[in-house]
Amino acid sequence: MATITCAVCNSEKANKVWKEFSATYNQTPISIPGAEMYECASCGERFFTPDQAKAVSLAVKRQARFGAGLLAPEEITAIRRRLGLTQSKLEQLFGLGSKVVTRWETGRVVQSKMADVALRLLDLDPENLTRLRLLRDESSHADAWKGLGLEETNGPEGLPRDLSKAQFWRPQGPALPFTHGAMDATGVGAQTLQ
Ligand SMILES: [Zn+2]
Repeated sequence: MATITCAVCNSEKANKVWKEFSATYNQTPISIPGAEMYECASCGERFFTPDQAKAVSLAVKRQARFGAGLLAPEEITAIRRRLGLTQSKLEQLFGLGSKVVTRWETGRVVQSKMADVALRLLDLDPENLTRLRLLRDESSHADAWKGLGLEETNGPEGLPRDLSKAQFWRPQGPALPFTHGAMDATGVGAQTLQ
């Protein structure tokens, strides 16, 4: 089994554990009961590897969607497919930026309530797709739809903004400064060092 070195004290006694992780999302407290993380047996520090940080971020957003009664990512994909739309066609229709629907469907971005309602209305009556297209095409300001934001909500608070750049990261407090000595046997994060 791969060992991870503690990012704080360099002890080699960091173990993979599944512990509760608390965050807030749009001021709503969220708790993930069994978040995978590392815990140092020497100093007690808990930290996430980049992959663990990504996973816990997705779990927080999944729970935020569920708590707010929003469609799950798979449901958005299913509705879009029933409507016969590609991701970019749906982005155009809603005036969204590029890749926004992709991010909804991979769970990385939580759709706004407005977008959620619009998707449900389209699903309830596919004729609404024709109506929405007409509204859009008849508007003399069709280009101005872009960026009007049926878009997305904020990211979870207390999680690293750019998870691809997250190195070892504490559940509380700032990201840990990365050092060569804190690298683990699997080379987690090694490729993102530079
Ligand atoms: Zn330690």
